[in-house]
Amino acid sequence: MQTSTKPIPDTTPWGKPFWKAAREGRLVIQNCSGCGAPIFYPRFCCPHCFSENLTWVEASGKGTVYSYTVVKNNAPSAFVQDMPFVVAVITLDEGVRMLSNIVECEPDELKCDMAVEVTFEKLTDEFTLPKFKPVGR
Ligand SMILES: [Zn+2]
Repeated sequence: MQTSTKPIPDTTPWGKPFWKAAREGRLVIQNCSGCGAPIFYPRFCCPHCFSENLTWVEASGKGTVYSYTVVKNNAPSAFVQDMPFVVAVITLDEGVRMLSNIVECEPDELKCDMAVEVTFEKLTDEFTLPKFKPVGR
């Protein structure tokens, strides 16, 4: 079994389809059958209408940078070797926002509203993390 020196995600039972899809290189979000709202992060009921009738849908994997920060120092010890790295909030084309990293991009190239697409980074056999990179890289 592959282990990681980095912390692994803290998961919920209702978030399992998200992590399974990520292992398979797919990005999925929930959609509410009650009101039609796209939902991320994984929930057991809709935060808009409280319906428990949620389905999983394939996301395009495309979005834009809503906001970001460049971590240049004082990162937790497991991430020191990654500095500088980018923590960003991505607005997916489906309308939900996702906290992740921007990779394959120098921090000074980054701009808000920049078009990005998902890429996947295997952390362990169980966890693969969706990250984002500039479109076309
Ligand atoms: Zn709803």
